[in-house]
Amino acid sequence: MKIAVLAGDGIGPEIVAQATRVLQALASDGLKIELEAAPFGGAGYDAHGDPLPPSTLRLAQQADAVLCGAVGGPKYDALPRPQRPEQGILRIRRELGLFANLRPAVLFPELVGASTLKPEVVSGLDILIVRELTGDIYFGEPRGRRSNARGEREGYDTMLYAESEIRRIVEVGFQTALKRGRKLCSVDKENVLETSRFWREVAGDIGKKYPQVELTHMYVDNAAMQLVRNPRHFDVIVTGNMFGDILSDEASMLTGSIGMLPSASLDARGKGLYEPVHGSAPDIAGRNLANPLATILSSAMLLRYTFNRDEWAYRIETAVKKVLSEGYRTADIFEPGTRKVGTSEMGDAVVAAL
Ligand code: NAD
Repeated sequence: MKIAVLAGDGIGPEIVAQATRVLQALASDGLKIELEAAPFGGAGYDAHGDPLPPSTLRLAQQADAVLCGAVGGPKYDALPRPQRPEQGILRIRRELGLFANLRPAVLFPELVGASTLKPEVVSGLDILIVRELTGDIYFGEPRGRRSNARGEREGYDTMLYAESEIRRIVEVGFQTALKRGRKLCSVDKENVLETSRFWREVAGDIGKKYPQVELTHMYVDNAAMQLVRNPRHFDVIVTGNMFGDILSDEASMLTGSIGMLPSASLDARGKGLYEPVHGSAPDIAGRNLANPLATILSSAMLLRYTFNRDEWAYRIETAVKKVLSEGYRTADIFEPGTRKVGTSEMGDAVVAAL
């Protein structure tokens, strides 16, 4: 199983180094993986004048999975758009055909104080949002500006989903629910939107194939409310690109700690790109301050969702829980009474806990 390792910029190399150590520790225990690194983002531009150099893209295409750090930084902000590090991310997602974004929001009991919600509302939170990434109003045509019949300027977009696009993302939702609590909530705006009426119909149809999973439907406005009112009600949420964009950010903030949030983006065959939700944090880069746990947890997702090796993923997640219960904290999640450590010491602790 080959993993392309694209550390990127800012804190990227520091946090990816710790995730790599964790994977190597498992490799020395029998997990068969091969890691190969390549420059990406600003580092790709520095090395080859391109945020996604052809050699990096080739490696990502050949590999079974891709582990990314983060890209971007002030050094690259003045570059023309095609050379900007963020373009590397957009291009690699497109080139690899990644259409399903998986964002778990898990609240570790030790970090309950980091959430802005009351402990009794969020403790035990463990939800996963499956967001469609390539369709919807963000890409639908026609779109643009025009003058209307009254001669007034207007802007317009098109919300559009083909049946095949709905089917493949809802399938990911069901498959993911099977690996978790077997509850899937499909979120739409069926009371207003034709696209949503169609989405709900197709989702219901696919649901017949999965009697083991409890399928429910919810309007997006209600889902936004329930996420802050009773988030533990959810197991897996599947939704379109725009609703997923908003709800996944809302859900991730329930945990309160950006340094703890992993993510996955999958293609039709389960190949995936795994990365922390946060950016390259230039303000703390190179100072051994960054929290590597989001990246370490991303590598656990990689083992679960691309390699179907739940038992190894579980080992990483259990090790992370153990170091938190032992009181290890990077600065972003530090509270008095716990033990403040740097990026590499947090990596040491996770490897020791494995
Ligand atoms: P950011 O997520 O990098 O940082 C926001 C805040 O959170 C900062 O104070 C930072 O120090 C802190 N933070 C983030 N990750 C942390 C970690 N692991 N441990 C401890 N603290 C952490 O967002 P930003 O400041 O808006 O963006 C910085 C750069 O990252 C920009 O160039 C942006 O374009 C880029 N970016 C990249 C990605 C990506 O690679 N997928 C995503 C978002 C932003």
